[in-house]
Amino acid sequence: MSDTLTTWPDAKRPGVPLNPGQDGWHWLIDWNDKLHVRYWFVGGVPWYGNVVRYRYLGPVLTPAEVAAAVAEARRAALEEAAQQIECGCDPARRAAVVAAPPNSAARWNACGAAYCCAIGAAAIRALAKEPGDA
Ligand SMILES: [Zn+2]
Repeated sequence: MSDTLTTWPDAKRPGVPLNPGQDGWHWLIDWNDKLHVRYWFVGGVPWYGNVVRYRYLGPVLTPAEVAAAVAEARRAALEEAAQQIECGCDPARRAAVVAAPPNSAARWNACGAAYCCAIGAAAIRALAKEPGDA
């Protein structure tokens, strides 16, 4: 590891983690590729020890935070794919599809295409709002 300063969120502020206004655990790595978990404490000594020469990897996430991040990335990828399908809807028809109640006949009949990109994108957004999802 030669450059130890470029992986901090702000290269001009080495030693300052992501979300510096919040207390929390963060992953760091030293010049021997040894991992360290250190606590950023806003109200006191920010780190235990000098970590400026370490590289910053990111905040320590809980399993629930990891699951939420994966679900959000999957949802975003599916929605992007849905929006690239060409169903032939003009903008006004697409707006009517999205305005109709989810999973209603009105929504599914608003577009003549067998698979409507507006329905697909709206359905994916609705899935992300199910209880238990992030
Ligand atoms: Zn359509």
